[in-house]
Amino acid sequence: MGSEDYYTLLGVDRDASAEEIKRAFRKRARETHPDVNGGDGAEETFKRINEAYEVLSDPDKRARYDRFGTADPRAGGYGQDFSGDFFGMDDLFSVFFGGVRGAANRPNPNGRDLRTQASVTLEDAGAGVEKDVTVTRLTTCATCSGSGAAEGGEVRTCPTCHGTGQQRTQRRTILGVMESMSPCGTCGATGSVIDKPCPACGGQGRTNETETVRVSVPAGVPDGYTLRIPGKGEAGVRGARAGDLLVTIRVLPHEFLHREGNDLHVMAGVNIAQASLGGRIVVPGLDGDVEVPFGGGVHTGDVVRVKGKGMPRMDGGRGDFMVHLDVLAPKKLTKRQRELLEELGESMGTGSKGDDRTPLSKIRDWLGA
Ligand SMILES: [Zn+2]
Ligand SMILES: [Zn+2]
Repeated sequence: MGSEDYYTLLGVDRDASAEEIKRAFRKRARETHPDVNGGDGAEETFKRINEAYEVLSDPDKRARYDRFGTADPRAGGYGQDFSGDFFGMDDLFSVFFGGVRGAANRPNPNGRDLRTQASVTLEDAGAGVEKDVTVTRLTTCATCSGSGAAEGGEVRTCPTCHGTGQQRTQRRTILGVMESMSPCGTCGATGSVIDKPCPACGGQGRTNETETVRVSVPAGVPDGYTLRIPGKGEAGVRGARAGDLLVTIRVLPHEFLHREGNDLHVMAGVNIAQASLGGRIVVPGLDGDVEVPFGGGVHTGDVVRVKGKGMPRMDGGRGDFMVHLDVLAPKKLTKRQRELLEELGESMGTGSKGDDRTPLSKIRDWLGA
């Protein structure tokens, strides 16, 4: 048995009168009669049309067919084999899950979101910046102002859905007639149809344009952060809702500042005198020099934290400035510097004249005892 709906087979509406059904049957029977139409399957089609007419011309059988999707009286009750086409998996889905299946393939007049990237320097990420991004997107057609109609053309309310953009579909299932809403196919769910489409956009109400969009990048923006600019995605079909523009911010690496969360890390060299005595060094930070005080006796790898001099945070405040010290011995010495260091070495018992410490005192020195 074929699966095509009897009404579709005869080409009549669901509420067709008995007279309309009779007329449609005669027309279809003439078209498909095997004597007239010798094509493959003509006989089968003719038989199906007769079957359809037999059911739809009988008020009782038609009523049963309308209710249960079959004129077979045995199908009227429960406990039937559900494998028949009148109650397929799609019906089950629409009954129990609101018709989610296949929703992705349905027309949607709204504009889609667009994605793009914008790169900013670490300084700009810290201070916040206005950034221009260029996107090629479907925008509202300038010729027809988005209506989709040519000059003198008319936008009419869609006759199928009466402007709602939604179509009511009825399905006969074992549980009775189920109604579900789906986007209207006649108007692409926009609710309107056009007699004379705009030549610039072909009735879509939108055209592809390259546009520059100014984006406000907030201070403290992390790398990979995505900003949403409402309505700057693709325009909708004929004035439907536009999508959003999603801009992912890429923060470029800095020459010497390394960002970890809201903290900024930097390497700074100190000479042996500073390392021994302590003091303060000045290190270039994100927005100006940072004074970094530290006590005496530091080693390479020691970290000094300067509070509140790191990266600004998007929710206010700032991270810390983390200075990694690198104790550097001078490669060149003046005569005077050499004399002073030699004197220092002698006073520590490690003079340039050779190491005369006992093995035990060497171990003590290693241990810092
Ligand atoms: Zn247009
Ligand atoms: Zn419609």
